Amino acid sequence: MDGMSTVGDLFGAGKMFLPQVVKSARVMKKAVAYLTPFMEAEKEEAGTAGQARGKVLMATVKGDVHDIGKNIVGVVLGCNNFEVIDIGVMCSAEKILDTAVKESVDVVGLSGLITPSLDEMVHVAKEMRRLEMNTPLLIGGATTSAKHTAVKIAPHYGAEGAGSVTHVVDASRSVGVVEKLINPDARKAFEEETRRQHQKLVESYQRRQTKILPYADAVQKRFATDWAGVDIPRPAFTGARTLEDFPLETLRPFIDWSPFFAAWELRGRYPDILTDEVVGAEAQKTFDEAQAMLDDLIEGRKLSAKAVYGFFPAASDGDDIVVYTDDARTAERCRFHCLRQQRDRKGQKDFRSLADYIAPVGAGREDYIGGFAVTAGVGCEALAAAYERDHDDYNAIMVKAIADRLAEAFAECLHAQARQDWGNGKQEGLTNEELIRERYRGIRPAPGYPAQPDHTEKRTLFDLLAVEQATGMTLTESYAMCPAASVSGLYFAHPDARYFAVDALGRDQVTDYARRKGVPIEEAERWLSPSLGYDPQA
Ligand code: SAH
Repeated sequence: MDGMSTVGDLFGAGKMFLPQVVKSARVMKKAVAYLTPFMEAEKEEAGTAGQARGKVLMATVKGDVHDIGKNIVGVVLGCNNFEVIDIGVMCSAEKILDTAVKESVDVVGLSGLITPSLDEMVHVAKEMRRLEMNTPLLIGGATTSAKHTAVKIAPHYGAEGAGSVTHVVDASRSVGVVEKLINPDARKAFEEETRRQHQKLVESYQRRQTKILPYADAVQKRFATDWAGVDIPRPAFTGARTLEDFPLETLRPFIDWSPFFAAWELRGRYPDILTDEVVGAEAQKTFDEAQAMLDDLIEGRKLSAKAVYGFFPAASDGDDIVVYTDDARTAERCRFHCLRQQRDRKGQKDFRSLADYIAPVGAGREDYIGGFAVTAGVGCEALAAAYERDHDDYNAIMVKAIADRLAEAFAECLHAQARQDWGNGKQEGLTNEELIRERYRGIRPAPGYPAQPDHTEKRTLFDLLAVEQATGMTLTESYAMCPAASVSGLYFAHPDARYFAVDALGRDQVTDYARRKGVPIEEAERWLSPSLGYDPQA
């Protein structure tokens, strides 16, 4: 235990790295598991119990399935002798707060990866106020930020003194924050400082001057194409194709390793990171261990990868993309609803929507759209759970990080195949490095990400490809994909297609979008809330 607090201190001081901490924790956990029966006997004799410094509840919110970051924070807090109660993923506010009360925890930590989770965190904060709790609330995960926490979450809980909300940027910060929050003397000053910081962030948010172009003007300034002359390839097939049990060894060379190191909080780009002066040695070790696990996963066929992809006759109709049942192009099968840029940035010439990349109805051209869904996470949950039962968080986190990498590699590999099928990649001859840098013609935007920030569009894509039947992948109520190691998106072959970000949406566009989707405006605003350029309540 004393050794672990040294590990914790060294990590806090930047002298040890996350993989070392998680491996040290494994040694401790295994030792504790062995010693527990003896310690209990001793405790009974001596009448004293080893006291944890405080109890922290950790949960991934309702509708979200991602837990790598949450598990890492849990291990790091455990190393620092905090008792961590981890209630897993897809946790409702009710389950989280019932457990918090029943276990009388000192701190509640929420985690989430996708944007709908931000709203769910606001809901948990509101519930904590309604229940008149005063337990500090921590917020963490990929789409969370200090600004969102200050502007959208903190006003609902802790603004007047009872309770508090703190954004935690990564695992190395979590210990310092929790230490202050469980210490009655330090807590007050820390919470006051946090409130002051939030105030500043709120003021800068209110001062921001977002110039929003009227939707009608943005439509006028769309990204224009000479539809008479542009090259529109014809896919080798239309409809959906399923790939069962795709070989993992084929995916391996497509892996982009840089995000793997980011997951382990090792900063730098692969392969340079392996020789980095500061993190190089640890990065190399972690990389070697990942390779060994990958060898084992491949040889033992322990994970399986599945996919479905396809191409469909399509045309744009305003900012919708119509998908036809067949090449006769008379009957409509479904529609993708797109969003257009409205933020008036200095020098911005065109205001893009994904619909700009598909030939419009009546242009006299036969265009197509593609779609895909891939997973490499079948079997991952069971492997991770077995490692956890063996007190081995290191390998539990490792297998999830590797499954995520394989899923992204599958998306890259399948996109290369799709460009061959479609004809927009016939003479590419790119190296894997160039593929990972996406140096090819065409894009594969993912619903819920900046070019189309509405996750609900995933439902249309899943129906079009019959993803559930083909692969077993499913969507949660927040449109997170299960298994977690999954990727989906649309394919566009337009020669000038590129990624862009839609944000600062105007009420005029959201009104039109809700009408096109056939949903009440309040519902559209809820799904788009991180991308709105106005306050729906105002
Ligand atoms: N090589 C990376 C790939 C993931 S990030 C990895 O292994 O993690 C790049 C992907 O994110 C793109 O292929 C696209 O699917 C998605 N993406 C990036 N920018 C986007 C945007 N603006 N809108 C929608 N999707 C985007």
